[in-house]
This record gives sequence, structure tokens and C-alpha cells, in this order.
Amino acid sequence: MAVGGQDDTQRPTGGGHERVLLSPPDVGPLEESYLLRALRSGWVAPVGPEVDAFERELAERVGTAHAVALSSGTAGLHLALIALGVRPGDAVIVPTLTFVATANAVVYTGAEPVFVDCEPESGNLDPELLDRALRELRHAGRRVAAVLPVDMFGSCADYGRILPICAAAGVPLVEDAAEALGATFDGRPAGSFGRAGVLSFNGNKIITTSGGGMLVTDDGDLADRCRYLSTQARQPVPHYEHTDTGYNYRLSNLLAAVGRAQLRRLDSMMARRRAHRSRYAALFAQTPGVRLLGAGDPAANCWLTSILVDPEAAGWRAGELAAHLAAADIETRPVWKPMHLQPVFAGARTLLTGAAERLFATGLTLPSGSGMTPEQVDRVCARIDDFLRRSSRGADPDLPAVRRAHVAESVGAPVPTS
Ligand SMILES: *Cc1c(COP(=O)(O)O)cnc(C)c1O
Repeated sequence: MAVGGQDDTQRPTGGGHERVLLSPPDVGPLEESYLLRALRSGWVAPVGPEVDAFERELAERVGTAHAVALSSGTAGLHLALIALGVRPGDAVIVPTLTFVATANAVVYTGAEPVFVDCEPESGNLDPELLDRALRELRHAGRRVAAVLPVDMFGSCADYGRILPICAAAGVPLVEDAAEALGATFDGRPAGSFGRAGVLSFNGNKIITTSGGGMLVTDDGDLADRCRYLSTQARQPVPHYEHTDTGYNYRLSNLLAAVGRAQLRRLDSMMARRRAHRSRYAALFAQTPGVRLLGAGDPAANCWLTSILVDPEAAGWRAGELAAHLAAADIETRPVWKPMHLQPVFAGARTLLTGAAERLFATGLTLPSGSGMTPEQVDRVCARIDDFLRRSSRGADPDLPAVRRAHVAESVGAPVPTS
């Protein structure tokens, strides 16, 4: 889809009437004042009072005893796996429908990601398949060192079923809650379900520190271990003594200050993303063949909203709506391309049903950012609405309706609107 480069989602929006992006950062005067205060305090390092306070406040929000502020969510996943003893040659179960960072963190440890398919409704790890994968790997004599579910687009995986399966298999769970801060499952906050949970504050996430992440856990030893590994594994002596390989993964004190401001605004930003989803739901309610991914989850943070288009029933494809919106300077994206289809993971072990491939083939993610102005939301909805009006007419059965409308426009013929 020609909707711009990889970094478009993270470009600033500016003011006015330009391009509507998928999920740009939403920062303003509060972030500015927190950042300035931190800068003026002199703590311009990956250590300081803002880091400590951000950890306390985030742990409180997620309901865990500990939090470790890191330079990215990916770093958090990597450290969690190391701290849980994941070693080269181990297997780690990862949903195939995710952002590549989840699988990369496994590869960094030398372990092998095993890709398991998702539930078609939510896009989250399929518990029944997880159970089968654990049994099959065990049967094959493989050590499964961790299960790494992802809370897809801000909807928690089905921990009511996944936790007992992991417990029965004796395999620790690390929750990739990178997309899910603010969401809950059975009243419990995203991030709190595994031995460790990981959040991301990348520029496109629900809150941002421009780049950053947090590992959260109830296990004090695990938190200490990750904090130690994140600061080059320095022994507490003055002369730089090292007995382990460490990493430079700590969050800057300046960025922690931005995170604290964002966290204060989390609930209002989440409310806006939820309102966008409701608006899209209403817009597509009467459209045959279209449903929203994860629509049944009232506790989602609604980080991103995606529609799923059955081209048979709808009479048009997700890509056609994407092209229509791109022409109006509105960014959309497909749902994640599954990991087992990525060249870098060619030949990986998998357990698949085809669900993730169908979501990739039929999904379209719509602008979801909390900073979208009411005018921008209206503009996106108006463009979708005129696409739906054109697409729902049926005259030439050999041509998809939308292409018919575009042909009509291009030859200058009037396009009826009802
Ligand atoms: C964003 C994301 C990450 C990585 O977070 P970074 O902070 O960008 O390193 C990991 N997993 C998922 C599912 C994500 O969406």
C-alpha cells in the first residue's frame, strides 16, 4: 500500500489540514513543562528522580510491585527472557500475528521462536493451539523456556485460558503488553499477567517517551536482575567490575519526565481512542462483510482500530478503501504481516490455522491517534462514507463498484451520491 514510509506513523502532525496519520505522538504543554523541569534539574542521564518516579507511578497503574524503566519495549522483552533463563536452543512460543520485536527478542537470546496462530475474532494467541504446541514440543524433546503472548492492538489475550495452560506445562509467561497500557482483562491491568510484563513508549504507542519501555513484575529478584543487566551489569564497586554480560538499556531521566506527563493523560487519551473506535463501528454498522477486529472487548485501550473486510460480502477489498483514503492524504495500514510469512523467519516452526493470514489479507487499520482533531475525524469519516456510498451500487457485475465509480469520475461523468 503506497501510504508512505515506515516512519510516517511517528511523524509530527503539526497543525492545520494536512495528512492524517495512523497513530502519531500526542504531546503538548504538560510534556513540555515536565521535560523542562527535568532538564533544569541537572539529571540529564539514564538515572535520576524522574526515572524513579515514573517507575513507581507506572507500577501503581499496572498493579505490580516493581517496574524497571528501559530504553525500549524490545529491551524489556529481551531482559525478561534472559532473566527467566531462556538459553540458546530453547523454544519460545510467540503468536505469529505480532510486531517483529516480539520474535526478535527471542532471537537475541539464541532461542527459537515457534509461531502459533491466533483467534480469528481478536487476533490474539489461540489458547487451544498454544496447548497443542506445548504438547508437541515437549513430545519432540524440546525445552519450552517461555510463552510470550501479545495483547493485540490493545486487547488482552485470553489469560483466563492461557494462564492455566502455561501453569500446567510449567512454562513461565512473559506478557508483551507493548500496545496495551490501560487495557484490562477480568478487571486486571494489562502487563500484570505474566512473571513479567513489558510496555512500550515508542512514538506511535498509546503513551510515548519518544522511545522507551518498562518491564513490570511482582518478582523483586527478577526486577533487580533486569535493572542490573540494563546498566551494563556493573558490580557495586567503584572500579567497574563485571561478572556478566550487560546491556545499555536504561531509560533517560529526561524521557521518564515525558512519560510521567503522558501517564497523567493516559485516561483521557484512551477515552479519545475508544471514541474513535465507536465512531468507526457506527460508520460500518450497516456495511455487509465488515467487522471490527476485537470488537467484543469493552476493556481494550483501543490503541489501533482495524476493520476486516470480507470482499465477497462487501463487494470491495480493504486495499481499495486504503487507496481511496491515501488519495485524500489519510494514512492506513494493513494488520501485522504474520511472522511466519516474513523472509527473516523462513523455515521457522509453526502451528497454524490460517487465521492470522486471513486477518492480514482482509484487515485495514484506520487512523486511531488520540491527537486527531474533531475536524480530522470528521474528514476521515466523510471520506469513508463516500467510499461506501459509491461501493454499494451495483451495475456492472464484472467491475468492483468502487473502481466503477473511479472510472466514472476519471471520464468526467457525474457520480450520483445516493
Ligand atoms: C511496539 C511493540 C514492541 C516494541 O516496542 P519498542 O518500544 O518499539 O521496542 C513490541 N511488541 C509489540 C507487540 C509492539 O507493538
